[in-house]
Amino acid sequence: MNDKPFNWIPGLFLISYQVLLLLALPFYFYYATPSWGMMAISFVLLYITGLSITAGYHRLYAHRSYRTTQWVEAIILYFGSMAVQGSALRWAFDHRLHHAHVDTDNDPYSIKKGFWYAHFLWLLEKPRTIEEKVVSDLTRNKLVQFQHKHRKKLMLFTNLFSVSIVGLIFNDFIGAFFLAGLFRIFCLHHFTWFINSLAHTWGDKPFCQEQSAVNNYVIAFLTFGEGYHNYHHTFAQDYRNGIRWYHFDPTKWLIWTLHKTGLAYNLKRMDAYTIKKRLVLERKNLLLEKLCQLWYVKKDELEQKVNEISESLVTKIAKANELMEQYKVICQECTEKDLILEIRKELNSLKKSIKEDWRLWVKLSRNILRLKPLEV
Ligand SMILES: [Zn+2]
Ligand SMILES: [Zn+2]
Repeated sequence: MNDKPFNWIPGLFLISYQVLLLLALPFYFYYATPSWGMMAISFVLLYITGLSITAGYHRLYAHRSYRTTQWVEAIILYFGSMAVQGSALRWAFDHRLHHAHVDTDNDPYSIKKGFWYAHFLWLLEKPRTIEEKVVSDLTRNKLVQFQHKHRKKLMLFTNLFSVSIVGLIFNDFIGAFFLAGLFRIFCLHHFTWFINSLAHTWGDKPFCQEQSAVNNYVIAFLTFGEGYHNYHHTFAQDYRNGIRWYHFDPTKWLIWTLHKTGLAYNLKRMDAYTIKKRLVLERKNLLLEKLCQLWYVKKDELEQKVNEISESLVTKIAKANELMEQYKVICQECTEKDLILEIRKELNSLKKSIKEDWRLWVKLSRNILRLKPLEV
């Protein structure tokens, strides 16, 4: 913590609700047995409110990685209010500062100030004044403005209303209060805060070594797919965080489904070659660093190979991107059919060659990273 003034009302609320919950929960489980239905609906509400933060507050408002209809926005803002994380405007403002100044004093939840500061303690400080220039696009959005203006009332209303409905359905208002209400908010708070703490601490950095954000598959399970944080800090506008189809990223799957049903559009997505190029350049630095630290017999030979294959890959990727651009333009004009065929042929052989280089690159990286100081 530093010497910034204490954020009294939200600070006391955040501390006291957690203490009271942790004290009361054992008594609740001792005297009551919640139904499976109550537990299931609480889990569903946890997911809906969580996705409103990740797909809504984060990827839609903070990063503009896609667009959606006003109805979807209204639903996002309703469940976002229920997540008890302030307004979308304040959330996006803090998050844009986080990306622009990551790991510096201007980062509102900088991990450099400690794990617990990034996780929770930053919320106890008086928030910065929202600067219009940082969120000018959002200040023009009437729904976002409405939610920001009435954020406290909306937070209370959405929670009381939804939790009462759950209580009414299962005829268990105490269970609804504890599980669908407080315990759901508690889990959601910590899952979201993990993105600022754990996802800047525990994992690997395949896309960018220079900043603290890491990729971690375990965190992705707890954070609705936000655990591929090193990728996210490198290509923040991509609507995906987990770029492979098998990466656990329910937020990406939700946005994709909205897109397929016509409810989301203009999805931003980094192309595969640019991602590959970034991976090569980042890995090249790591490999050369590793070789520098070793006294290996074939060190010079390996260094040369690293430089050769990485340069070949980067050059071919640049050429492939150039050809694809050319191909798009010519296809739009639809004039020179022979040229289209020629470019397609060249592109196919280039793609094959990139694949081969990539295979060599992966093998070489594995071999170098396996080298141990004993081989010195
Ligand atoms: Zn981050
Ligand atoms: Zn972000």
